[in-house]
Amino acid sequence: LGRKLNAALSSLNRAPVVDDKVLDALLKEICAALLESDVNVKLVQQLRQKVKTKAKAYFESGADRGKEANRKNVVQKAIYDELVQLVDPGVEPYKPKKGHTNVIMAVGLQGNGKTTTCTKLAVYYQKRGFKSCIVCADTFRAGAFDQTRQSATKAKVAYFGSYTETDPVAIAAQGVVKFKKERFDVIIVDTSGRHKQESELFEEMVQIGQAVKPDMTVLVLDASIGQAAEAQSRAFKESADFGAIIVTKMDGHAKGGGAISAVAATKTPIIFLGVGEHLSDLDKFSPQPFISKLLGMGDVQGLMEHMHEMAAANPDKQKEMAKKLEEGKLSIRDWREQIQNVMNMGPISKIASMIPGLPQEMLEGSDEEGTLRMKRMIYITDSMSAVELDSDGSMFMDLGKDGKPEGLTWRCTRVARGSGTSVREVEELLCQYRMMANMAKQAGGKHGWLQGIQKMQ
Ligand code: GDP
Ligand code: MG
Repeated sequence: LGRKLNAALSSLNRAPVVDDKVLDALLKEICAALLESDVNVKLVQQLRQKVKTKAKAYFESGADRGKEANRKNVVQKAIYDELVQLVDPGVEPYKPKKGHTNVIMAVGLQGNGKTTTCTKLAVYYQKRGFKSCIVCADTFRAGAFDQTRQSATKAKVAYFGSYTETDPVAIAAQGVVKFKKERFDVIIVDTSGRHKQESELFEEMVQIGQAVKPDMTVLVLDASIGQAAEAQSRAFKESADFGAIIVTKMDGHAKGGGAISAVAATKTPIIFLGVGEHLSDLDKFSPQPFISKLLGMGDVQGLMEHMHEMAAANPDKQKEMAKKLEEGKLSIRDWREQIQNVMNMGPISKIASMIPGLPQEMLEGSDEEGTLRMKRMIYITDSMSAVELDSDGSMFMDLGKDGKPEGLTWRCTRVARGSGTSVREVEELLCQYRMMANMAKQAGGKHGWLQGIQKMQ
């Protein structure tokens, strides 16, 4: 999905003019990619309509002042915003509190990854100073308790279950009472899933819920479930009223779009993604960084954190950087510094995805090829003048002498010649920079999500 969305945006970046026709073609490509990944048809249509309305209103307002770059920005931002909307129900999930026993109950069909995820969650919270444990209330599946025992032992977290008791409600209640007495901070209750959605299962969820009174119920969904995610999540919502979703197996070939649709169907936020079979394969989920990575716009959050660290080593620079971040004013020079830093950090395949604006193609091939491509980007910026480096790149799109937008200005031609690259490469670099600058603006502004992240820490 990411690759296709990224390809669509790259083609937007390469388009010499952005008109209704280009917009329609772009939206067609993006919607096809979303549908192919099993995102709900209605949601895709809504997205298309909203982006179209926003973009056309902008085109017609004349606010673009004849600059294609402005149009590209608006279209890009509209698509980004609507994709974020898809995975952001605007609801704050429950966060375990210190000095309180937090009971978390996991529900979901068998095989979705509940037991694995319960252990991952216990490890996650344990690492953050919450004394954590697991209660195995699955009496349906043979060997369920053994599985919990093994994985909990491996993870070094406490567990509770029974080989003889057959009533899952009784086990759940006993386990929670025991661990509450022992002053555990996070108690995770693993339940049975059975094979299908059936009334007995839902009845069991209701009863366990009443017995343990969870602070948060989590629906565990398999990313490969496709369009069925909607019906499944609705059914569980009715009986188990979950307040959070964890999507597992995001590391596989799963399309994941179905699970994304479950967010909209139940207005419930995703809190983590399962990305492998190991205990540490659990990624915290937030809508904006997820979408920016998906679009190949890079991990702005990771980059910002990195920039903060770098700045901390150099206090004079720190002030300057903080101000730039706040105002969303990162020049080409700042960006280039980041590329250089990243190149010094290690193998390109590991870190290049951190740089916003780098297209996915950059990450293909061997590390040597990737390094070479990044070097070319540095060569291009080496051929820019100081004024150009400190700019936001818009002077490359300046009007020609006759007052008409030229598209390719003499600046691009000069830089291409000076760096031994092509005008197209220079243009692409500028587009990538612009994408990054957009992201930074959104992240760093007064109401940007970077503020939220800083407050959280
Ligand atoms: P449960 O029946 O819902 O408790 O599911 P399990 O926790 O037993 O998991 C079923 C299978 O999915 C196991 O083989 C797990 O190793 C696997 N699994 C769970 N989560 C992930 C994940 O995020 N990625 C991958 N690749 N496999 C997973
Ligand atoms: Mg299980």
